[in-house]
Amino acid sequence: MNSETIAIVTKLLDGRKNIVIVGHKNPDGDAVGSCLGLYFFLKELGHNPSVIVPNDFPDFLKWLPGAETISIYEKNIDHSRALISEADLIFTLDFNSLGRIGNMQEPLENSSAKFVMIDHHQQPDDYAVATYSDTSMSSTCEMVYVFMESLQGLHLLDSKIASNLYTGIMTDTGSFRFPSTSASTHRRIAKLIEAGADNSKIHQNIYDTNSPDRMKLLGVALNNLVILHEYNTAYISLTQKDLDDNNFRKGDTEGFVNYALSIKGIVFAVIFIENKQENIVKMSLRSKGDFSVNDVARTHYNGGGHINAAGGRSSHSLNKTISEFISILPVYKVALSQ
Ligand code: 5GP
Ligand code: MN
Repeated sequence: MNSETIAIVTKLLDGRKNIVIVGHKNPDGDAVGSCLGLYFFLKELGHNPSVIVPNDFPDFLKWLPGAETISIYEKNIDHSRALISEADLIFTLDFNSLGRIGNMQEPLENSSAKFVMIDHHQQPDDYAVATYSDTSMSSTCEMVYVFMESLQGLHLLDSKIASNLYTGIMTDTGSFRFPSTSASTHRRIAKLIEAGADNSKIHQNIYDTNSPDRMKLLGVALNNLVILHEYNTAYISLTQKDLDDNNFRKGDTEGFVNYALSIKGIVFAVIFIENKQENIVKMSLRSKGDFSVNDVARTHYNGGGHINAAGGRSSHSLNKTISEFISILPVYKVALSQ
């Protein structure tokens, strides 16, 4: 975090402030963990923070310390809007554009609060008075740790903050194996464990809570896997019926795309998930090496993210989305062959 941003934030946090902390739509471990980590830190500093997310988050994150305090905008609109209208400051975490928060975009754009962004996605929008953006960071949770350090606040690190930040770093790094995991990440993780994050228990809480339905859905997904050797690409598709037949619950498909990417020689993997309610196909894109799925998602799928992990959507049918996807691959053939 640079000294100019630190100075702005220090000034913004002068005196007790009403603060709203916002994570992105379909919040993941990094979004929820970073919001709650920051929530406890700001509380320790004497402020009045609250966390709002646009829609619900998966059950495997409900044990996070403070999760019960989170307002879910689409379920509690009046309360959430009241918090936003009383806010002096709004921290936006783990997203780079107000387009990533669904129906919360309107109340946030109409708010007179000052914005602070903490985020590690590519190409951040310019809506905040203080933007702490670092695309080299493994996770927003790791950035919240650096944020605390920059404000001379690491002595306030307790087990609640540590458990939240540990969780988001773990989930965004694929348990410390993606290239974004640095030596500094491991040093910070060590501090989080010392501060009370129970690493083994957290791993169990997140990854060992599979329902039989989720395992069956994974079976369907793997059965639907298609490999395009010519492009070192693999994709998985799930229809709405596949989801319904297996009692889909939020979060069940998280990580499925990584099975496609784990195949020897595959550098580009995609999962297409039909969503009849929103009338879209949601896509998660993953890659290895220099192939930028952020570029693919931005160019073709109204999305974005990071070089090796991005998301997007299509408003065509599942079949059309897949056939169009196959038709754009020749453009990337050289990049996919390296
Ligand atoms: P996932 O595929 O797990 O939903 O998301 C992968 C990464 O891309 C995450 O960092 C997520 O925040 C980002 N991402 C997912 N969907 C979108 C999207 O529609 N737009 C943008 N800009 N980023 C996305
Ligand atoms: Mn993240």
